[in-house]
Amino acid sequence: MDFEERDMTHMNQFLSNVLVEGKAGQRMQKIIFDIIFQHIQDMVFVMKVEKGPLFRYLFINEAGMQKANLSLEVIGKTFQEVLPMNRASMLQQKYEKILKVNGVVKFDDHFFYNGQYEVYGETILTPIYSDVNEISFVVGVTRDVTERTLENKKIARNEQRYHSIVDNNLDAIFMINPLGKILEANPAAVMLTGYSEKQMTSRSIYDLIHDADLDKIKGLIEKTCSGYSLETLDCRVTHSKGQQLIVHIKTAPIVIHGEIDGLFVILKDLSEQAKNMELIKYMAFHDQLTGLYNRRTLLEHLNAHIYSPVKNSQEFALISIDLDRFKHLNDTLGHLAGDEILKGVASRLSQLQNNQCYVYRIGGDEFNILLLNTTRKAAGIFVSKVFTLFSQSFYFNSQEYFISPSIGISMYPLDGRDAEMLIKNADEALFRVKERGKAHYQFYRTDMNSVFTNVVTLETQLRKAIEKGELCLFYQPQVNVRNGEVKSCEALLRWKNKDLGYIPPSVFIPLAEDTGLIISIGYWVIEQACSQLKRWNDQGYLDIRVAINISPKQFQQPNLVPFIEWAMEKYQIAPASLEIEITEGAMRDTNETIPILIKLKKLGISIAVDDFGTGYSSLSYLKQFPIDGLKIDQSFIKDILTDAKDAAITTTIIHLGKSLGLEVIAEGVENQLQKDVLLAAGCHKIQGYYYSRPIPADELESQVFMSHHSK
Ligand code: C2E
Ligand code: MG
Ligand code: MG
Repeated sequence: MDFEERDMTHMNQFLSNVLVEGKAGQRMQKIIFDIIFQHIQDMVFVMKVEKGPLFRYLFINEAGMQKANLSLEVIGKTFQEVLPMNRASMLQQKYEKILKVNGVVKFDDHFFYNGQYEVYGETILTPIYSDVNEISFVVGVTRDVTERTLENKKIARNEQRYHSIVDNNLDAIFMINPLGKILEANPAAVMLTGYSEKQMTSRSIYDLIHDADLDKIKGLIEKTCSGYSLETLDCRVTHSKGQQLIVHIKTAPIVIHGEIDGLFVILKDLSEQAKNMELIKYMAFHDQLTGLYNRRTLLEHLNAHIYSPVKNSQEFALISIDLDRFKHLNDTLGHLAGDEILKGVASRLSQLQNNQCYVYRIGGDEFNILLLNTTRKAAGIFVSKVFTLFSQSFYFNSQEYFISPSIGISMYPLDGRDAEMLIKNADEALFRVKERGKAHYQFYRTDMNSVFTNVVTLETQLRKAIEKGELCLFYQPQVNVRNGEVKSCEALLRWKNKDLGYIPPSVFIPLAEDTGLIISIGYWVIEQACSQLKRWNDQGYLDIRVAINISPKQFQQPNLVPFIEWAMEKYQIAPASLEIEITEGAMRDTNETIPILIKLKKLGISIAVDDFGTGYSSLSYLKQFPIDGLKIDQSFIKDILTDAKDAAITTTIIHLGKSLGLEVIAEGVENQLQKDVLLAAGCHKIQGYYYSRPIPADELESQVFMSHHSK
């Protein structure tokens, strides 16, 4: 009997026992048999149940033979006779179970085909009952699930790997849906944000992100949803405790079967790194001892201003400072003390720092200052401020030390068109200062005014000017444009020093303001003007009014009004004889200004706004403040004939002043044509060289009053 026939006989016998009868039945059996035998990939074993119980192979289909590596010889044999012991007892046990439970038994199976190929099976044992309802056969169907099992194992392994990567990652990893809802967050994410995973999974990733970065990140996530993996630096995330973290964000789409299922958002905390970067940057551009900018920054700043496409040809000053006798201090007190003194100097100099002024330490006791948008004159005034910073002593270990600086200045572009030249020339100027006795300053290029450039000496001289009687007042008449009458004049301060000669107010008034000397000088001026008025009154010039300039600093002195009152009383001055001139700048703070102005008004004094049109104040103060007159700044008058804008501004100011009932005076009128324009525009009074320069009181009497006033 060949294999198929013999097998067929077994099968036929088996089927005829258990299934159908008759011809049709036989055909049917054949078909079923074919299917089972040849086509079904599952392994089919039919076992005969005998007493014992013993299970004998009755039928095995082709798949069963192959995969279980059995041959026809096994038919009629038991598990124990055919299989290795382990396997036989395993199967025996499972088959016995079917007798016990008296129903279907399922189990998973795992064996090696041919001793080497791993096979996973899912087996179902179905009992077949005899007429007396005993289990006489068992049909075992084993499905080969090797592929699926291995696949599942692979998936499980991948899953574990994924979790291992995610859970142990140092970066915070979020899984979110395309709307931003957080689905999962790893332990690092919990660390980074300070929220528990549970707290986070009810939130949106956007809740964590700083408002300012929200649009950027939303854009990033939207784009990721279309399949891109993206990243961005510099995003801020808010920790649950409120602090801001700087993070690097990377996003990746999760694509499953070609569709975006969600996204990964990976955050790396760069706060530390950012801090380190800041520190590195800070260290590269700052001097470590003092925290000031260093030489490298100076070069960068210089180049930025020299080569800037926008700001070219803006004048600026490079100021080189060296501390006098510092080396001596350092040598005698030790480096520690030296360092402390340098820090002290740095902290004073850094008070000057603003967006137009930068301070650098170049090394040792050398400092530099870059003063932007300045003029030679303004730089000179600025340097006087530097000197005042050193006027107070320094302390180290409760010992007092006086330190003076020597200063050299070079101006861009006059003294050099590149950084190197400017530095070299500022140093050269400094060197000349040192040579000539230190503690003063010098420009690289000296000019005619250089006699005034030594602010320190200038200041010392100015302090003594009042005592030494070097100050005096000149008077400049204010002329009625229509009839040429002079009923008022402005008192202008003059200083004549025996060594330095005449020093113009434009040089010493700013210095006096900076040093506070203006206050005592100002009182002197008020008293002087009052005493002059009294002399004129005594001489019979009764309706003369004198205008006194009050500097902003003096204006704020609480003593100002009482002092004026005192002077008026002492010299018996009629209130109408006094006018004070203040600039728009002095009136900037409305709350402070109005009460002072009202007090002055109560004394009966008139108030004029000096240099009108050059300040920043809004016109509304004209209405609010009790003002009597406007003095149009001479800069408008200067070009009134040639510059249509200046002419328009002047005319407008005149109209404005008149409509508010104010007296309008034009300053700096130098010629007939200017006067004619002002007359036509309806200006009340003019003041200027055209009529008269400021002159001493006696000249005013003889040249002006005599001809205009009837005694
Ligand atoms: P200011 O109050 O605007 O004074 C007018 C300035 O213009 C005076 O300069 C005067 O000499 C000058 N000036 C007059 N007519 C003409 C002219 O036709 N052409 C030109 N180019 N200039 C003319 P000065 O005397 O040099 O004073 C300059 C500034 O110093 C004054 O400007 C004022 O702000 C201040 N000042 C003068 N004296 C005092 C004072 O006693 N106290 C205070 N706080 N400041 C004073
Ligand atoms: Mg004035
Ligand atoms: Mg003026």
